Amino acid sequence: MIPKALILDRDGTLIEHVPYLCDPAEMRLLPGVEEGLGLAVRSGAKLFLHTNQSGVGRGMFGMEEVELCNARLVEMLEHGFERICTAPEAPGAPSKYRKPSPEFAKEVMAEYGFSAEEICYVGDRGSDLGAAAAAETRGVGVATGLDDLQAELEAQGYGEQFPVFGDFLSAMKFLFPQT
Ligand SMILES: [Mg+2]
Repeated sequence: MIPKALILDRDGTLIEHVPYLCDPAEMRLLPGVEEGLGLAVRSGAKLFLHTNQSGVGRGMFGMEEVELCNARLVEMLEHGFERICTAPEAPGAPSKYRKPSPEFAKEVMAEYGFSAEEICYVGDRGSDLGAAAAAETRGVGVATGLDDLQAELEAQGYGEQFPVFGDFLSAMKFLFPQT
């Protein structure tokens, strides 16, 4: 089934992962992202952004900086997001949306009428695909972040559940093969 919605991670998936990024000047799109998002949009998929930003909860920067970076990302891309969800909490702090929470995906399903199988998470970390598992959506990994995604998935017991691609465009060609 062709996804009707992608829930995209930001750091390490759409842009180079700069740890605790808070300066829009440091943002660089990863190779193949614009072309890949073009495939998705031409196939009719809606785009959503879901980003964990624990730097806020750790007191390293504020939501204003996150919002500036998110706005810069929107400027850099040809296609916009239906909704952006930022989870600012540090790991372990109570949080509604921090991935692997399924709450954002559930809201997207409720608001737009998508079934779980019509949604696909795309991310570079086990927490992105953990959110997919928790919400019972599809998920694909991109090994373009700073961590060893395959090792993370195996540690979480998701080694076989989610395909992992070496770059964003390959993941989009897998999801949208007719385009
Ligand atoms: Mg990431």
